[in-house]
Amino acid sequence: MAHRVTFIPGDGTGPEIAEATRRVLEATGVEFEWDENPAGEDVYAEEGTPFPDRTLESIKRNGVGIKGPTTTPVGSGFRSINVQLRKELDLYACIRPCKLYEGVRSHFDRVDIVIVRENTEDLYAGIEFERGTKENAELREFLADHDAAVRDDAGISVKPISVFGSERIVEAAFDYAKRNGRRRVTAAHKANIMKFSDGLFLETARSVAERHPEIEFEDRIIDNLCNQLVSRPEEYDVIALPNLYGDIVSDLGAGMIGGLGLAPGANIGTEAAMFEATHGSAPKYKGQNKVNPTALMLSGVLMLRHLDEREAADRTENAIAEVIRKGEKVTYDLKPTRDDPTAVGTSEFADAVIEEMG
Ligand code: NAD
Repeated sequence: MAHRVTFIPGDGTGPEIAEATRRVLEATGVEFEWDENPAGEDVYAEEGTPFPDRTLESIKRNGVGIKGPTTTPVGSGFRSINVQLRKELDLYACIRPCKLYEGVRSHFDRVDIVIVRENTEDLYAGIEFERGTKENAELREFLADHDAAVRDDAGISVKPISVFGSERIVEAAFDYAKRNGRRRVTAAHKANIMKFSDGLFLETARSVAERHPEIEFEDRIIDNLCNQLVSRPEEYDVIALPNLYGDIVSDLGAGMIGGLGLAPGANIGTEAAMFEATHGSAPKYKGQNKVNPTALMLSGVLMLRHLDEREAADRTENAIAEVIRKGEKVTYDLKPTRDDPTAVGTSEFADAVIEEMG
């Protein structure tokens, strides 16, 4: 039976990479029924909303979606669709594999890590008290009464980390490790300083780890983890992190594997899963058939695995890896210089992957 999947082209360069990805996914022979729905700047201009109800309903109905990036104009008054999506669907786990493929220029020899980032809590929860407001003053008064005075010209952001949130993200990391033949989960934190938030994350992670004795578990203080990732990346496997550290380490990982054009992602919740690249809509290249579709294609590979189409997923990943290894029919960002005249476009890269799959 065909997999019914919500397909969101996005805006900027989104529609180009989304179409390239759709063609590659179809070439696997797996049957899809695409439920195409809009999101982003273009539909905002037409309908006055960047995220129509029908798009949200479609994801809720299908439970699986793949999405091209969408622009969040600065100061436009519309909230990031990605943040809305995560909130509306409680997509609490952001999974970002960072794998260095042969043929990509990088300072590293071997990188094959998977970042599992908590998506709903931490300093990202949006609990903030602006300097100079009544609420800020009340909070400072409360803090002063509890021997925790802060300067009266301070802005305050609150960092909530719960047992519930920590348990489900660490479970997601172990689940990913088991399903994908990984051997170790590392929990990253700053529990030595933030005892009641990161400390609770670590304590919860340790008790989750006891339920999965077949997978190794260790923890690292976040600054040490960053140091070790760039000196001995081969020692790391699946890494579970609270929201903010996860955000930063994801970009570190993307840099280590050759850049944003190569970094896929999945946002997973109990009711739905949304697959999308780590990068944004790169609007300056819109309509130029230029940017690298690999990140979204690899997000498609994650989607195939999520749908239990493992053989098709491996075949697609191998074909992408082979095109990159050969280095001929690749986009500008994978060439030795950015103005290399032999670089191919987004669409031709997809053709090369499809050809490679035979
Ligand atoms: P960006 O990731 O869109 O682009 C930054 C630069 O990275 C580009 O100019 C380009 O040089 C390079 N790049 C990005 N993707 C590439 C690719 N596939 N191939 C080759 N090079 C690539 O970041 P930005 O310019 O900061 O953001 C643009 C818009 O995207 C903003 O509105 C931002 O809010 C939004 N955004 C959306 C998502 C999402 O939809 N998931 C994620 C991040 C940012």
